[in-house]
Amino acid sequence: PVVDVTALQAELAASGVRYAMAGFTDVHGRLKGKVVPIGHLPQMAGGSELFTGAALDGVPQEISDEEVSAHPDLARGFRLPWKPEVVYYPSTLFTEGQPYEAGARHILQRQLDAAAELGLGFNLGIETEFFILKDGPDGIEEVSDRDTAEKPCYDLSTTLDNFAWLTELVEAMDELGWDVYSFDHEDARGQFEIDFTYSDALTMADRVTFFRLMAGEIARKHGHFASFMAKPFADRTGSGAHFNMSLADLATGANLFEQGDDTKGVGVSEIAYHFIGGILRHAKAISAVIAPTVNSYKRLVRKGSTSGSTWAPVFVSYGDNNRTNMLRVPLAGGRVECRAADISCNPYLGAAMILAAGLEGVRERIDPGAPHRENMYEYSDAQIAELGIDMLPRNLSEAIDEFQADSLSREVFGEALYNSFIDLKRAEWESYQSHVSSWETDRYLRFF
Ligand code: GLU
Ligand code: MG
Ligand code: MG
Repeated sequence: PVVDVTALQAELAASGVRYAMAGFTDVHGRLKGKVVPIGHLPQMAGGSELFTGAALDGVPQEISDEEVSAHPDLARGFRLPWKPEVVYYPSTLFTEGQPYEAGARHILQRQLDAAAELGLGFNLGIETEFFILKDGPDGIEEVSDRDTAEKPCYDLSTTLDNFAWLTELVEAMDELGWDVYSFDHEDARGQFEIDFTYSDALTMADRVTFFRLMAGEIARKHGHFASFMAKPFADRTGSGAHFNMSLADLATGANLFEQGDDTKGVGVSEIAYHFIGGILRHAKAISAVIAPTVNSYKRLVRKGSTSGSTWAPVFVSYGDNNRTNMLRVPLAGGRVECRAADISCNPYLGAAMILAAGLEGVRERIDPGAPHRENMYEYSDAQIAELGIDMLPRNLSEAIDEFQADSLSREVFGEALYNSFIDLKRAEWESYQSHVSSWETDRYLRFF
């Protein structure tokens, strides 16, 4: 929709807005941006706010290149619930008058355009799991947990103890029209989850990136901090960001994963099975994007030192309600949940990769094979080999190898970001790999 920016500025100023903030993500999905006094909104809308690429991770620019500018999506602005004098705009990076090809929001938009050419819309709901912690005299502490069990999952007394920050956050989300439908104490001490209604994928990525900022700000007000690290504690479950996905008929809005023959019997239609087939084909390369850190791979384990189940996938597989699959079709059917994504990912890039793979599956009518209905954590290595089940990458290095080797990655990211993402992630791996950890000294220092 075309927005009359002068009228918008006048209206915002009259209602007490004093600043406009343009936000975009770096390659990691962290929000960056600039703020202008509201009188400068028209200039900001025209791309006045410039950023030096070299100062941002994942903006692969030469020092002499033209700066990138943030173009606020004026139709999607909203006031910060905890600071209503500021209006926030999710923004797309531009350069030389065109959307910047390495900008994450544009990369998702390109895949949404490809879907639209097939008459398809991509709907996405992302479940946000995260830790709320605080700095204590002896280091990092979780907020009070009354359930002393190793897995205090769903504990209501702890939820009530944490009601002040939880409801402030939930009410802020609802003020923005996100429609929270439930929140709870998750599996691990200090871990919570807030779920809200799905939307088109661009809106969802705008929301989840903003959610991390907002949850952090509200936690700080209460003397805590929010962590979106994938696996902060070796002995507790990690924080997933399950992607709940469906394709819609763009003309009617109908959910196509609900319409037609359920050829494999786990609760979705044929087009969904093709979509699944595409994701499975590219699952290993996708992993580098939806599980993007060294730490992400400590979450994608069957057990490790975590007590009980991790609920995180290790296989390239799909199935019914069974939570050990990478791709699960929940009992209600009509959608596919990708469980490999963690909450540290850049949701624009993650959604772009998954959608591109899924669309390839739809175009090529890829058969995903038979669904897995059993607890896959129980499979022996011999069974895994016999059934021909592939493993997800076991560390960031393997994931980057897979990303680099898959032509879909270059197609989705574009040449410049494809190269810089690989360089950045290899450097991250090398830095980790050359670090000697306390696990090693504990184990080896006096051993030999
Ligand atoms: N926290 C788990 C994960 O790392 C998921 C738990 C759940 O199924 O909600 O993905
Ligand atoms: Mg959960
Ligand atoms: Mg889930």
